[in-house]
Amino acid sequence: VNKPKVVILGAGYAGLKTAVDLQKKLGINEAAITLVNKNSYHYESTWLHEAAAGTLHHDKMCVDIKSLLNSKVTFVQDTVTDIKKDEQKVILENGELEYDYLVVSLGFESETFGIKGLKEHAFSIANINACREIREHMEYMFSKYRTEQRDELLTIVVGGAGFTGIEFLGELGNRIPQLCEEYAVPREKVRLICVEAAPMVLPGFDSDLVEYAVAHLEKKGVEFKIGTAIKECTPEGIVVAKGEEVEEIKAATVVWAAGVRGSSLVEKAGFNAVRGRVMVTGDLRLPEDDKVFIIGDCAAIMNPENDRPYPPTAQIALQEAEVCAKNVAVLVRGKGEMTEFKFDNKGTVCSLGHDDAMGVVFGKKIYGWKASFMKKVIDNRSLFLLGGAGLVMKKGKFKVF
Ligand code: FAD
Repeated sequence: VNKPKVVILGAGYAGLKTAVDLQKKLGINEAAITLVNKNSYHYESTWLHEAAAGTLHHDKMCVDIKSLLNSKVTFVQDTVTDIKKDEQKVILENGELEYDYLVVSLGFESETFGIKGLKEHAFSIANINACREIREHMEYMFSKYRTEQRDELLTIVVGGAGFTGIEFLGELGNRIPQLCEEYAVPREKVRLICVEAAPMVLPGFDSDLVEYAVAHLEKKGVEFKIGTAIKECTPEGIVVAKGEEVEEIKAATVVWAAGVRGSSLVEKAGFNAVRGRVMVTGDLRLPEDDKVFIIGDCAAIMNPENDRPYPPTAQIALQEAEVCAKNVAVLVRGKGEMTEFKFDNKGTVCSLGHDDAMGVVFGKKIYGWKASFMKKVIDNRSLFLLGGAGLVMKKGKFKVF
């Protein structure tokens, strides 16, 4: 039988959820579903700041992809290098795949906006390997301080006071005292500096939530440099400017957390995109090709309330995947109605370390242990959506304090 070929690219929240939903919806003879991913594992991207800081081991946030799939989905571990939509083909490092329907869910990459030296000398919280490097680099700098006693070895700069930057600083606030103890380093020697070009911290959050977060992080020793732009990153540290004032900060660790974009493969494929994000149709397809779905961080969807695209999040990616799977099933079967995507915003919680957080849930502001508890509920929910109760039991977060 000539079954329609469905190919899903990327096993992040968007791609993996689409695959898991499709294997429930479709019978084995209805479609040939293939899921392609670089690694054999899926990782919880929303936990990456914990791996980078070293507060949660990366193995705890990785899930073997095959363990979540049944025989209806073929898993191919390979790297996508190009998409040829006119030939309905995907090019991989080690082969090619033809498709009738394609789901592009290749996720995010770090965006350095052309700032000199950032790509070469700064780390970014981009994937498991990048986070492993950050954690090990910081440990090495602390151990080196024992012999070299140079202060810059203990200076950590975080570029960006957006969601990722703040969550990472929260983890570092907990991790630094541990590192100081482990390497016998005086805490007052460590500098934790957050540099943000915009005039405010955490744009999009209410000012009382922002004040709460800043006060909490300052108490943990974070120095904020707001309205200050990183002009250059060098092997010795960074050069920043506030108005006319230029300053060099020597730092052995610089982590760039101020920009993400959708996968650059989206542009390479010739799709009409801004920073790797494509404005998709109401049913989540490429406007110029109704065989191609784009979801997750590679998709842009307008928020009718403010005429701006919704920020790319795991929450929206998981909801898009549900609609995408429904729509792929309709096309495969050649019957039924396509579903239009509508975002149901349940809120956002920003963690400030494992023991504190703040945010808005169902329209209500929450702080402290309640928010921290809620954050763990959200983290466990995403596991549940991908792998049911079994995955929550294996990888879930249950420790409240
Ligand atoms: P991804 O999760 O990036 O997955 C893409 C997958 O594709 C990966 O498995 C990758 O390995 C694979 N891939 C990429 N390129 C290739 C290739 N060429 N070939 C093969 N495979 C490839 N969102 C929230 O809603 N709440 C939060 O609290 C939150 N916190 C965050 C904290 C941090 C530190 C970060 C970095 C992000 C956070 N986000 C949060 C955003 C969220 O993580 C992303 O929006 C989400 O991961 C997007 O899902 P995705 O499936 O589109 O992409």
